[in-house]
Amino acid sequence: MRVDVDRDLCEANGVCTGFAPEVFELDDEDELVVKYPEVPEDEVERVTQAVAACPRNALFIRD
Ligand code: SF4
Repeated sequence: MRVDVDRDLCEANGVCTGFAPEVFELDDEDELVVKYPEVPEDEVERVTQAVAACPRNALFIRD
């Protein structure tokens, strides 16, 4: 599973980092960084929850 962010939609509110801090991180300039675009197996559930919770629908999953 792969996850990507659309930076035009993301407003860097940190919702996804709360769900999956191992995968998503806000950098010093408040840009969202996807640390593991190829999602590790043990992060799939948390990333799926983060994608569903993103208030801007800025995260996309590709199998
Ligand atoms: S939850 Fe969505 S809008 Fe918020 S930082 Fe993550 S990708 Fe961006």
